[in-house]
Amino acid sequence: MLPIKKYIFVDLDNTVYPVKSMGDQLFAPILSLIKNSGKHDATIDSIKRMLTRKPFQYVAQHFNFDDVLTTECLGILQNLTISETLKPFDDYVVLKNIPCKKILVTAGFTILQQSKIQQLGIENDFEAFYIIDHTKAHVTKKDIFETILQQKKLLPHEVLVIGDDANSEIAAAQALGIDAVLINKIEANFIPPQITTVQYFEELLPMFHWQLVDA
Ligand SMILES: [Mg+2]
Repeated sequence: MLPIKKYIFVDLDNTVYPVKSMGDQLFAPILSLIKNSGKHDATIDSIKRMLTRKPFQYVAQHFNFDDVLTTECLGILQNLTISETLKPFDDYVVLKNIPCKKILVTAGFTILQQSKIQQLGIENDFEAFYIIDHTKAHVTKKDIFETILQQKKLLPHEVLVIGDDANSEIAAAQALGIDAVLINKIEANFIPPQITTVQYFEELLPMFHWQLVDA
């Protein structure tokens, strides 16, 4: 018997849309700050690459940004918004149409993540949105998943978590006994072999039974 899923907890960046599509201008102001400071351990290209995949705080720590540089970058990033329309992945409509409830759980800067959601036009596709902003609170995806399970009186086996980061949402789901599938659309770095991976949302359909429940 396939497990019955009532909810999908969905990651945003590189799961719903490719971060790369936001273009270089988004990160340009902080990249030039970083470049001019010289206070980091890596080439601008490797920093830029990680910025499209990981939260800024992780990148700053990984490349040893000093406190001044980190604070200056945070000042910019906290107020950044997207002004252009963003396009979800081509097969996002398949995910959207899966007959169960969906909740978006994303980590990043509140204003920036909100403007991405707006520019993607996905406000009506989710029952709720959670933005984990590490400049405001030190909660993790695991904390948020646990909170939602409690609030909605859901059991771990009634939920599916999807995302592109083995160390973030996928690890959080596994720690709570929630099924997780890694959406691998942008050729992720190393994916541990025990993680279920798909490239297209269609591949999720036969893996579970889906059930639409009342909120
Ligand atoms: Mg992601």
